[in-house]
Amino acid sequence: MSDEVNPFESLQEQIDDAAAYLEYSPDVLDRLKHPERVLETNLSIEMDDGSIEVVKAFRSQFNGDRGPYKGGVRYHPQVSRDEVKALSGWMVYKCAAVGIPYGGGKGGIRLDPGEYSADEMERITRSFAKELRPLIGEDRDIPAPDVNTGQREMNWIKDTYETLENTTEPGVVTGKAKDSGGSLGRVEATGRSVMLTTREAFDYLGKDIEGATVAVQGYGNAGSVAAKLVEDLGANVVAVSDSSGAVYDADGLDTSAAKDHKIETGSLSGYEGASEELSNEELLTMDVDLLIPAALENAIDGDLAEEVQADVVVEAANGPLTPEADDVMTEREVSVFPDILANAGGVTVSYFEWVQNRQRFYWNEQRVNDELERIITDAFDELVSTYENTDAPSFRTAMYVVAIERVATAAEQSGIWP
Ligand code: NAD
Repeated sequence: MSDEVNPFESLQEQIDDAAAYLEYSPDVLDRLKHPERVLETNLSIEMDDGSIEVVKAFRSQFNGDRGPYKGGVRYHPQVSRDEVKALSGWMVYKCAAVGIPYGGGKGGIRLDPGEYSADEMERITRSFAKELRPLIGEDRDIPAPDVNTGQREMNWIKDTYETLENTTEPGVVTGKAKDSGGSLGRVEATGRSVMLTTREAFDYLGKDIEGATVAVQGYGNAGSVAAKLVEDLGANVVAVSDSSGAVYDADGLDTSAAKDHKIETGSLSGYEGASEELSNEELLTMDVDLLIPAALENAIDGDLAEEVQADVVVEAANGPLTPEADDVMTEREVSVFPDILANAGGVTVSYFEWVQNRQRFYWNEQRVNDELERIITDAFDELVSTYENTDAPSFRTAMYVVAIERVATAAEQSGIWP
């Protein structure tokens, strides 16, 4: 993994790559490469022992031309201003790629949640929600879960906001628990779009998913669901990993049993259903048909990309390839299906949750999954037709061409406020 690559610069490079296939003036494009605003704040939190700790938190609102800012909140020691800016920009282009009416935002708190009690995490989250209150709202900016946040944190943010605003507005955040206004199918949605992208990709490339070997890096929400659903398609998931390392079995792993082991023990390490434990680097360079990076950004740099043996990469994580890795993959003719399509299921079902919250009318899970399938397969078709009709060198660039065109058109139609 490369820590030196600045993800915000990676985003800007991806936009430049795609812009070469579009005819927008540099000033329009410049606007689309920078966030509209970034909140940087220092939260003072009382610890259980009475001491006070200060933690840094951010919220970037990148672009609102297509709708309210939308994007997750991440708790991680590496959270930085540039990381949040990049992630908020990827949200803009992800929402545009799948055609849902949102702009992009992203937030984060720089901390390791493992070092805090549940009560401390609640105070930290509510303190952040208080800082966010003037910026968020169902028509302004709608946070959601990301790395190390989930339903519990979203419920706290909703409750803090509603209490301070003296209202009920469940659509102010998505990814809530079902009884707090969450949508059925939201937890599985990111993994489901990874599966749908994989299914469409194999079909498009004329490859058989039945019996295809798969390695998955990162076994949290996105990775573990993606692994289970591609296994359901008939693929053979031979290796999965988390931050403790990788487990491997040539005959295929039982993805559900591996997940149970991780839930019980906190890590994949020691999972008895595997024949071998490997390093994360070994997993990323295994000879498999499909690699699904589902951990963090910059997991694969240029050097590692030279070693990747998978023929197809479907990105569950945001920004798992550095720009250099991306160039290497393109040169080596590895088919990389980009994050802004493959993991868009999360934000798409967040959109469904928001629609249901606003209508106060809730869908069954089948409807959620059917609508998601329609949106992802339509976006996939748009991707391949753009790939074939331009001479874009990669599926990523082709997807950005689709997305940037939609955002730039909305920006131009909005005009410039004096
Ligand atoms: P998560 O916290 O549930 O899981 C992350 C997993 O990655 C954990 O298993 C962790 O142990 C593992 N990990 C961390 N560092 C690793 C390393 N160096 N090597 C191997 N594994 C490592 O997070 P998540 O929600 O699954 O998110 C994962 C990625 O998917 C992130 O890039 C996130 O932005 C993206 N994503 C998630 C969603 C969602 O709805 N959850 C939506 C879109 C994108």
